[in-house]
Amino acid sequence: MKILITGGSGFIGSALIRYFIDNTQHHIINVDKITYASQIDGLCEYQAHEHYTFYQFDICNAEVLSQVLTQHTPDVIFHLAAESHVDRSISGAMPFIDTNIVGTFTLLESAKAYWSALPESKQADFRFIHVSTDEVYGDLPFDNEENKPSKFTESSPYLPNSPYSASKAASDHLVRAWHRTYGFPAMITHCSNNYGSHQHNEKLIPRVIACALAGKLLPVYGEGKQVRDWLHVDDHISALIAVMEKGLLGEVYNIGGDCEMSNLSLVKQLCRTLNELTQSQTDYQEKIEFVADRLGHDRRYAIENHKICSELGWSPKTDFTSGLYNTVKWYLDNPQWLKIDGDEIMKPLFSGSSLKK
Ligand code: NAD
Repeated sequence: MKILITGGSGFIGSALIRYFIDNTQHHIINVDKITYASQIDGLCEYQAHEHYTFYQFDICNAEVLSQVLTQHTPDVIFHLAAESHVDRSISGAMPFIDTNIVGTFTLLESAKAYWSALPESKQADFRFIHVSTDEVYGDLPFDNEENKPSKFTESSPYLPNSPYSASKAASDHLVRAWHRTYGFPAMITHCSNNYGSHQHNEKLIPRVIACALAGKLLPVYGEGKQVRDWLHVDDHISALIAVMEKGLLGEVYNIGGDCEMSNLSLVKQLCRTLNELTQSQTDYQEKIEFVADRLGHDRRYAIENHKICSELGWSPKTDFTSGLYNTVKWYLDNPQWLKIDGDEIMKPLFSGSSLKK
């Protein structure tokens, strides 16, 4: 098969490409603009691989998109290209509107034109998988706080709270409409927080490791009470493969790790793992610093993953403690991924002083 992946140089896209190249004979076409978030180093060993082709351009460029689609005739498109950092969306939403909404629209139009022109036999096999987030459902009360359903399901209402999640919600609606109106063969996935190797150091886990190794304080928003559901990126990849192979067109699949944890518990576990792996004299937990909370910070995300488990036979395989241990070990073995540009990474993005040391 020929598989086109947008955002293939990002954290999850590069894991998907590494999986395909290492385990299959599929030809992979990576379309990525290479923003600050890209991990080109994470794919350098594949640059000359016979099953890998890379194009650097913006998915808002309809002309180049059409040329690439016509030239490579993909059987599947995974759409992962996005602006993905909530904090950045709060300080400046425009790139999120451009890529996540206009970019998805442009890709849908180009892919629809390409798909419509395919011979019938190929048309029937074509699939478009839109990779989205659980954040489009808004947030949940903390456990037992209110008498409400406690996890997001595929029929939970859309209630996005950040510019990032609003832009992803908009992109989901476009994909849904293109399926319903034009019969475009699309599926949508909503995944919880991923962790693993090759993640940009602005995200919580690599950021805490980077700060710890640089001898800095470890910033935790608010009081660290926010709860996230964590999933190893390899389990996300196996879920996306299950959706590609067995998913039904027009369907939505939620992907979660059944692994809820407050941010503070996560950072404490990270510190214990760092203490063990670095044999440091410092107890990293003493370096935790509570900083001014993110604006509009969602309280709790939790995903009900029953549908994908029962219908597609998927389940998360990575135990969180060993997954986190291996992730920390990977960053310690690859310190270039933690490079800190000046002191920028340590600064909270919002004004306000530390709440407590
Ligand atoms: P990332 O920020 O690490 O990577 C995004 C990639 O998209 C980058 O390589 C970037 O260069 C590329 N890109 C951005 N704008 C582009 C444009 N206009 N044209 C072409 N390429 C462009 O993101 P990620 O964490 O790998 O997330 C990938 C997808 O998965 C996103 O759609 C995100 O919303 C979704 N998702 C992420 C998580 C998570 O925990 N990271 C969870 C659920 C869903």
